[in-house]
Amino acid sequence: MRKGIVRVLGVLTLVMAVVAMLSGCGRSTTADQPQASNGQRSGTVGIAMPTKSSERWVADGNNMAEQFKKLGYDTDLQYGDDVVQNQVSQIENMITKGVKVLVIAPIDSSSLTDTLQRAADAKIPVVSYDRLIRGTENVNYYATFDNFKVGVLQATYIADKLGLAQGKGPFNIELFAGSPDDNNATFFFKGAMSVLQPYIDSGKLVVKSGQTSFDQVATLRWDGGLAQSRMDNLLSKAYTSGRVDAVLSPYDGMSLGIISALKSAGYGTPTNPLPIVTGQDAELASVKSIIAGEQTQTVFKDTRELAKAAVQMADSLLTNGKPETNDTTTYDNGVKVVPAFLLQPVSVDKTNYQKVLVDSGYYTAGQLA
Ligand code: BGC
Repeated sequence: MRKGIVRVLGVLTLVMAVVAMLSGCGRSTTADQPQASNGQRSGTVGIAMPTKSSERWVADGNNMAEQFKKLGYDTDLQYGDDVVQNQVSQIENMITKGVKVLVIAPIDSSSLTDTLQRAADAKIPVVSYDRLIRGTENVNYYATFDNFKVGVLQATYIADKLGLAQGKGPFNIELFAGSPDDNNATFFFKGAMSVLQPYIDSGKLVVKSGQTSFDQVATLRWDGGLAQSRMDNLLSKAYTSGRVDAVLSPYDGMSLGIISALKSAGYGTPTNPLPIVTGQDAELASVKSIIAGEQTQTVFKDTRELAKAAVQMADSLLTNGKPETNDTTTYDNGVKVVPAFLLQPVSVDKTNYQKVLVDSGYYTAGQLA
């Protein structure tokens, strides 16, 4: 009898030692092992991003995954290839798998109402990332940049370069806006027009195509190819005489398409220089284009900082803290005003890219060479 008890105790001790060893190994060797130390920072965060075709979203996703893992969470990071139904299915899978919180940059701002009702039923909170999710009460917080200011920066750059405030002009300008189903696109355009409209009204800026409303200038899915073909059309129809002096472009991928169209039409020579072309995101190809003297400007939005803001929000939601916000009035999604944390965008051109992008460690000098 005594021998039997000793043997059972021996086996139990061995089993406990093996369990302790295995869990110890898990903690020390696997970076993404949930740290259940405080009983809260564990489980999986679902991260739904729109597309890999633009560098910024790849950086956003990677930055968030890294930061969540450091805190002790697992992550499920998915990209929707700019197809709305892909993103809906990806989020529904995350809900089924029981993620603790969702961080979503929607492809179409208004197409997630049913999906997020499912999330709410499963008590999964939602952080809207960069783009506002519209038409649902089931979005808790919003991490983004000051989107109106992005447009103001682009348009102010054009106005300054042309010397409009000093009374110069008239100049010809063409306008482009982003995807009509992305809430940000209207903010960027409204911000830009708050600066440009007075000059259009006074005749110092002339839109020869006559296309000035958001609907006329919007570009589905921010597609660079679409922007290129619209610019081709504008040049062949509205510029049989005269030249375009500036193009308001809301996003680097579109700016490069627009520049291709301009070059095909003969711009980019000493006697017929490229117009001022704005952009957004400080994507590598565009920063190189700025250094080469083609694209003129971009708006830098530090994705490392945005990821930090979103991770802070999601983590606070899970640890019962109160996420930090600095704007509780601007972002009405049609059902509620979503409390937001806004970061500041920065205008970048040839004169300050080194300081803003290289000295800050966002890019290495080698990447831009
Ligand atoms: C983002 C921009 C980006 C655009 C296209 C917008 O929602 O705010 O940074 O340029 O989408 O991806």
